[in-house]
Amino acid sequence: MCNYLSGKGISESLLWAIDSEENEKEGEKEVEGVAMKCSRCGQEIKEAESYTHRGKTLCEDCYLDIRLEVKACDPWAVYSATRSRESADFKGTEGLTDLQKEIYALVKRKGKVTREEVIEGLNLSEQEMQTQLATLRHCELVKGHKQGDKVYLVPFS
Ligand SMILES: [Zn+2]
Repeated sequence: MCNYLSGKGISESLLWAIDSEENEKEGEKEVEGVAMKCSRCGQEIKEAESYTHRGKTLCEDCYLDIRLEVKACDPWAVYSATRSRESADFKGTEGLTDLQKEIYALVKRKGKVTREEVIEGLNLSEQEMQTQLATLRHCELVKGHKQGDKVYLVPFS
């Protein structure tokens, strides 16, 4: 009697386990089935890897890109960056890191350079370049300048 009951109990919980396992699999499939597209580059992304920025669905690359752009073009950020440099009596390139000074010097010397030239000339990674450039834009030292189908970095003023 006892054996029979416990036997039944086991098979019932086994069935339940199999049941819920199947449910889980179905649930996973559904999530994977929701293929999303990055609204910036059009790349297909899984929901779990998607980012939302101002109501748009973005892949990780574009999200990081946009976040950096927003930072670089945010007037309030520029205001506070220039203001704090002013109040600390920083002028021109003072207050920049050596690397930022080098990039700025290169841009000034050449008048206009491509990102690739800076990356090669100073042996930077794309990521380093991105970060340094954001600061140089913040401080209104370097800006992007489109000429033909190329974008150059030029002195801000
Ligand atoms: Zn994208």
